[in-house]
Amino acid sequence: MSYIHPYQDAEFVLRHLVGFDALCSAAGLEDANMELAVAVLEEAGKMGSEVLAPLNRSGDLAGVSLGDKGVQEAAGFKEAYQQFAESGWLSLGVETEFGGQNLPNVLNTAVNEIWQSANISFALCPMLSMGAMESIGHHASHALQSTYLPKMASGEWTGTMNLTEPDAGSDLAAVKSRAVPNGDHYLISGQKIFITWGDHQMTDNIVHLVLARLPDAPPGVKGISLFVVPKFLLDAAGNPGERNHAHCLSLEHKLGIHASPTCVMEFKDAVGYIVGEPNKGLPYMFTMMNHARQAVGLQGLSISERAYQQAKAYAKERLQGTRRDGSRIPIIQHPDVRRMLMLMKSSTEAMRAFALVAAAETDRAKYAADAEAQARHAARVELYTPIVKGWLTELSQEMTYLNIQTWGGMGFIEESGAAQHYRDARILTIYEGTTGIQALDFIGRKTLSDQGAALALLLQDMQATVGRLQASAYPDASVVEGLSAAVARGVLARQWLLDNAAADAHLAGSVSVNFLMLFGYLAGGWLMAEAGMQAQAQAAAGEGDANYLGSKRITTRFYCEHLLPRTGMHFNAMQAGSASIMDLPEDQF
Ligand SMILES: Cc1cc2nc3c(=O)[nH]c(=O)nc-3n(C[C@H](O)[C@H](O)[C@H](O)COP(=O)(O)OP(=O)(O)OC[C@H]3O[C@@H](n4cnc5c(N)ncnc54)[C@H](O)[C@@H]3O)c2cc1C
Repeated sequence: MSYIHPYQDAEFVLRHLVGFDALCSAAGLEDANMELAVAVLEEAGKMGSEVLAPLNRSGDLAGVSLGDKGVQEAAGFKEAYQQFAESGWLSLGVETEFGGQNLPNVLNTAVNEIWQSANISFALCPMLSMGAMESIGHHASHALQSTYLPKMASGEWTGTMNLTEPDAGSDLAAVKSRAVPNGDHYLISGQKIFITWGDHQMTDNIVHLVLARLPDAPPGVKGISLFVVPKFLLDAAGNPGERNHAHCLSLEHKLGIHASPTCVMEFKDAVGYIVGEPNKGLPYMFTMMNHARQAVGLQGLSISERAYQQAKAYAKERLQGTRRDGSRIPIIQHPDVRRMLMLMKSSTEAMRAFALVAAAETDRAKYAADAEAQARHAARVELYTPIVKGWLTELSQEMTYLNIQTWGGMGFIEESGAAQHYRDARILTIYEGTTGIQALDFIGRKTLSDQGAALALLLQDMQATVGRLQASAYPDASVVEGLSAAVARGVLARQWLLDNAAADAHLAGSVSVNFLMLFGYLAGGWLMAEAGMQAQAQAAAGEGDANYLGSKRITTRFYCEHLLPRTGMHFNAMQAGSASIMDLPEDQF
């Protein structure tokens, strides 16, 4: 099934919700502007629909295999990767010093939506390379940066992230892999599991980022260091030479993302180079994780968009039911099918708005004119990241479910492709920290630890939107009333948490997912209302595409009537506290 990038919505969000041109007026971003962004998105859209999307189903069917040379990727992937790399797509967000194009993160994010929609298994490979570049770019020595970043930015080498071990999943404090000093490098030993794109034949080297412990490291998270471990050691000229002792032992057989190799990796005295200082590996990895968590959240949007495109195409052609005149009815005309399509359309628009607004905060923090602005935007990145990851990926489960439901029985049949999206989406709420872990991060590190200060500022921004909606006499009352009630609920939820958390050790953990989902739906409603106001103003002024602007008004109204009320459900469940969650004795489970 084909894929077409929704240019118009991405452009609208960049232009009006992100304020892309204003963002690019910051020192350091002067070369970017909306005109360039539109051209980049169009090119990426072609690459996505013409090169990557056609390999999505064949990759799912073929999967990957392990042979004498290591992991063999699915047919067509190597050629697609070469075209992808040669077109410069990996270097979009990289500093010019290392061969990059230094374009804003938000534009790279809008482009990444396309790769992930077109072919999520393929797109995981560049996604991890970008995350690895981010970590090396922030924390490694200049020597490591200049050795590895240009080759990664050009796509000649890919990057991986080696955190998970059999006993260390959500709890990375339990990492056991060892790193022993050996002259100018370290010897790394240990086993890592579930390593995405841990091996393949698409490039002549792979740069593994590996968490391991030094012999004298303190226990727990304070004793973890980060290492660059290349698949092939570099010769004097900087080219891949001798094989390093980092091998894929086996491949996992998975529910979805079949064309993305998930490797058990063995490191046996593999040569590695430390990134930054000893024992600071986890904070360094968090640089990559913030990036990777938002990127996985974006995968939730991407797969939902792809699922929506499939559902609407099928709903327009599938005939069921007969009119009095004997003609048959396309299922898109049945109200319940329209309800499902509207849920998908309005949710993906809200997800896109939130993903891009969140991505732009990284740029605003990086290019801030002063320390106060830098701190404000950095705090917003921290606050948004678990919501982008948690809420978008949870919603994608419902969106891929609705696609199958729209198709009826054919959706359950693999041939339709709807089943693949459902299977592929299932990992999104798990890797890069499960929803439970995102929710703990949001409620603990991002809310309770600053007594809700950052969240209060976000709520003030939302209240300002309500004020402008009311002042502008926005014509759709359900939008004004719906957002106003939901923001008031957000204010109450924050205060309820601050008032009650200290008295009950189980409270935060019991209510955290409801708290996160409440703020996810609220953030979506806030930005949809902003979009609706913008669309209304443009339409009134006779500007823009009347069809698109009219549709935005309707998706905004639908969102506020059908999705925002979920904030009430989550708030009610929160207020039940921990009792019925914790009361049942363990032997009664
Ligand atoms: C296909 C795939 C690709 C992956 N790619 C990579 C990769 O490239 N690199 C990498 O390093 N890892 C990768 N992973 C690993 C992934 O990040 C972990 O699976 C994930 O972090 C969860 O860890 P776990 O599987 O050990 O589950 P566990 O940590 O055992 O969690 C099991 C359950 O317990 C819950 N839980 C655990 N601790 C807590 C807590 N403190 N509070 C509340 N609930 C808790 C979890 O939410 C979950 O529901 C991948 C995994 C898969 C399946």
